[in-house]
Amino acid sequence: MAVIPIRVLPDPVLRQKAKRVRAIDSSIQKLIDNMLETMHAVPGRVGLAAPQVGIPLRVIVIGIPDGEDIVLINPEIVRRTGERLINEGCLSIPGYFGQINRSVSVTAKGRDRNGKQIRIKANELLAQALQHEIDHLNGMLYIDHLESMDKLHKIEQEETEL
Ligand SMILES: [Zn+2]
Repeated sequence: MAVIPIRVLPDPVLRQKAKRVRAIDSSIQKLIDNMLETMHAVPGRVGLAAPQVGIPLRVIVIGIPDGEDIVLINPEIVRRTGERLINEGCLSIPGYFGQINRSVSVTAKGRDRNGKQIRIKANELLAQALQHEIDHLNGMLYIDHLESMDKLHKIEQEETEL
């Protein structure tokens, strides 16, 4: 396993639409291990998408505090409810956070690392992380959801980064 440097804007890999994983082979297992290690390398990171480590494939990992690590391959959001305004940051846009609207609850589906089809019903931070990481797979960043650049702020203290 290895900690991989995080790609930051304006790296073009962050704006590509990531490709679906066709076979969950040893290279995908290695990618997942490296993503988990990279996510856990710094406290406060709650999620990571493969494009952030330079790999344009549809793989995300999420590790919210007091929760088990989640690995989702070819994830999709199939249901969203509610809306709330929240502060969000991103490892690929270091030093900033912004206020955006996210769905309160989402249901996501995808495959786990063993290829098993799974569905996750999530609220609040987990729902936020799923939306944020799946956006990454579509080349979208949270700043694309900002009403205006006035809503982007410089970080003065440690914030949760996704
Ligand atoms: Zn991010």
